Amino acid sequence: MPVKDLIRSDSPDLGPDLEKEKSQGNPPPVRPQKVGFVSLGCPKNLVDSEVMMGLLARAGAELTRRAEDADVIVVNTCSFIESAQQESVNTILEMAGHKAGGKAKKLVVAGCLVERFRDQIRKDIPEVDAVVGTGELENILAATGIAPPSPKNDSPFVVLPSRPEGDARAAQGRFSRELWDGAIGDLPNYLYDDATPRILATPRHMAYIKIAEGCDHPCTFCIIPQLRGQFRSRRFESVIAEAERLVQCGVREITLIGQDTTCYGEDFGLKDGLALLLEKLTHIGDLRWIRFLYAYPNKITGKLLETIAQHEKICSYMDVPLQHASATVLKRMKRGGGADVFLRSITKMRRTIPDLTLRTSFIVGFPGETEKEFEELCDFVLEVQFDWMGAFAYSDQDGAQAFDLTKKLSPREIERRRKHLMALQRQISKKKKKTLLGREFDLLLEGESEESDLLLEGRTPMHAPEIDGKVFINDFPEESTPQPGQFYRCQITEAHDYDLVAKIL
Ligand code: SF4
Repeated sequence: MPVKDLIRSDSPDLGPDLEKEKSQGNPPPVRPQKVGFVSLGCPKNLVDSEVMMGLLARAGAELTRRAEDADVIVVNTCSFIESAQQESVNTILEMAGHKAGGKAKKLVVAGCLVERFRDQIRKDIPEVDAVVGTGELENILAATGIAPPSPKNDSPFVVLPSRPEGDARAAQGRFSRELWDGAIGDLPNYLYDDATPRILATPRHMAYIKIAEGCDHPCTFCIIPQLRGQFRSRRFESVIAEAERLVQCGVREITLIGQDTTCYGEDFGLKDGLALLLEKLTHIGDLRWIRFLYAYPNKITGKLLETIAQHEKICSYMDVPLQHASATVLKRMKRGGGADVFLRSITKMRRTIPDLTLRTSFIVGFPGETEKEFEELCDFVLEVQFDWMGAFAYSDQDGAQAFDLTKKLSPREIERRRKHLMALQRQISKKKKKTLLGREFDLLLEGESEESDLLLEGRTPMHAPEIDGKVFINDFPEESTPQPGQFYRCQITEAHDYDLVAKIL
């Protein structure tokens, strides 16, 4: 596997300060170290990779896409579920091969796997030279052996404010990592800001902005709070400043991310912080689309829905991971809610935002999930008719409360249920996509399709980056040459189970 194609070949922006700092006399090392990155997992992890690449580039390192050329290889790992952990380990081992028989001198492992298995990585994979946890991004400079460019980057970690809810959960032991071998005592508390250099790994026209980090919720299947720390928000002005800069660099679509963006600003005492932030972002002239991922069900306020409905720039798109619909399963998950509550909430969302695209995800096979509880979930899915839906098979996480629950289902039964739920959604999706035939939408052209040279690919406001189905373009006016990163008007001409075919008008 090559080093993931993280660095845009045309990336002009090393962050606002980099070129300036270089010209102000921070000389690069005699021969710049070449660093290659592999970023696994979610967009939140991708932003961490972008920040580490920015820090390294500012310190004089050269970034390379090819593992064969790299002096140092960094693998930014994911530890969300067992399969993600396995993929992370496989990738580390594969990259270790470049040390044994190739040019690489150093292998650095970063990210969530480090928070979970810090000692074990060091012990079991001797090729790993250094580890960098999710709260230690600035340590990437020391870990790779590349000196920080100025004392400014040696700044001690700032302790960010927390929410009373998070403090209460901390007192109850929610974030405890005592039983994890080698986990450092301090929870991750790092959060980048608009002054942190960042190299975008996404196409020129789109970028993620992490507006908050960590999570205070008590979901029993999840160890993200232990991996990422208590919930903390970035300053309002910092997010706006970063968005403005990104737009100046050519970004036209911004996706706000965080474990739970709907809590944004609560640690500053802001009420409806996400709604205020979205509204403020709509004033950035050349920014065309704004979205946010993910919404916690009971944090969706009327003000947030009205803000989405009022502004054309805010995509009428919500991703609300509900995890289940049976009140009894949700209680065991320590999430609360249930089909009735969710139905009322979804009715309100759809009434306030008439053209809403609604995505959700569920966990099937949670310990003790009965056939009846699973049927409740299926009935709920049939009733709501989500536009997009994902289903995850429950997998045990050592360190999560659910690990100690009894009545575990067999992997085979869990998979049977997952497939059944996805089959229901396939039919729903197929029906919903058919209703789009003949309709016109704005389309952001992404470029040539990965499926065929003869097709182009794009996204409408209904399609979040890298998550939802595809829109293939097979026709455009003869006199035009559609350009990636540009917006066009399109008409849907074919509908498949998940994907669409459209022509540019
Ligand atoms: S909301 Fe629940 S599932 Fe999501 S990150 Fe927080 S604890 Fe995990």
